[in-house]
Amino acid sequence: MNEPLLLVPGPCTVEPDVLATLGRPVPLHYGPHWTATYDRLRRQLAEVFGTAGEVHLLFGPGSAGMEMTLGSVLAPGDELVVVVEGIFGQRLVEIARTLGLVVHELRTEGTRPAGGEELAAMLGGHPAVRAVAMVHHETGTGVLTPVERLCRTARAAGLITVVDAISSLGGAPLRMDDWGVDLCVTVANKCLGGPVGVAPVAVGPRALELISAPPARRRKAVGWYLDLATWHRYQDMWSSWHPHPTTMPGNVVHALATATDRIFEVGLDAHHRRIAAAARQARGGLRALGLCTLVPDEIAAPAVTSVRAPDGMDVDHYLRWLVDKHGMLAAAGLPPHAGASFRVGHMGRAAEPGVVTDWLDATRDYLRIEGIGARS
Ligand SMILES: *Cc1c(COP(=O)(O)O)cnc(C)c1O
Repeated sequence: MNEPLLLVPGPCTVEPDVLATLGRPVPLHYGPHWTATYDRLRRQLAEVFGTAGEVHLLFGPGSAGMEMTLGSVLAPGDELVVVVEGIFGQRLVEIARTLGLVVHELRTEGTRPAGGEELAAMLGGHPAVRAVAMVHHETGTGVLTPVERLCRTARAAGLITVVDAISSLGGAPLRMDDWGVDLCVTVANKCLGGPVGVAPVAVGPRALELISAPPARRRKAVGWYLDLATWHRYQDMWSSWHPHPTTMPGNVVHALATATDRIFEVGLDAHHRRIAAAARQARGGLRALGLCTLVPDEIAAPAVTSVRAPDGMDVDHYLRWLVDKHGMLAAAGLPPHAGASFRVGHMGRAAEPGVVTDWLDATRDYLRIEGIGARS
């Protein structure tokens, strides 16, 4: 059976050259040839993150990367603020609590992103807080968080800042060092257009000091594999041969390098513009069909469009029809908008203008066949 074209907000359907790299014989994860590819990829990614620090390629999902960042700079019992704008902010709370951290949640209503004043007020009430964690793009709703404003506020209070940029890096500009982001995580298989299996974890200059020289007698919240200090140590100790602590998924790393080379061929700005153009095309097309987006364009992330289901639409039926008739897989809405919305990602091949057009045409047909009128 042919796999459907993925219009979900990650993972993405990769380009043929990325796929071909995945199908090659398993490469060795050490030696000069490997190290050259690995280090070049890490330098490219540092540029995408906008940091003069370093990037490690965690063999695992984005959530493991978030666990790694929080646990590498905090000790059990430490307090932190987590900005919760949806399901992935809630995931951060869960990870932090499991690490034994004391979480203060900064929650927002509906699809409104958190503001700097709210954060400042919260910090004022919790003087023992050491860090602030947030999600750049809340993929559940499609809202883009004002990371720069929030991180500047947190930095002004002398705090460590941690950002989940899992569904935004490569899809929306993010400048870690300029914005005051200390630690940041993404995955290969969303806006970078790469394969599933690797989570790039970026450590800014200030965080490098924190992971390498933790305060005396403070036990970190992580073990060995997820401690960034382990990765930093092996990078130096085994630098020209095996600059990471464990075996790596060679094909996956090479395939991500193929995807990243693509980005640098056109330029990072052009890559961002391509995704933004797909989002504009999708949103304009939806409105022409009489549909509404869930999030106003001013606060919507470019990587995902959340669509309010019109009256009379059975979202599950539409999604099944789309995959059965057109081989395109879009995503259902997530709580609190489950059942009443669906989501379309603009990453990987889904950002192609022709793909967006095909999806809009199919949706027009569906509305006509089902006799669903425009929402007034
Ligand atoms: C996809 C996603 C995650 C989860 O990533 P995993 O790789 O499944 O751990 C976390 N946060 C955001 C914002 C996401 O979009």
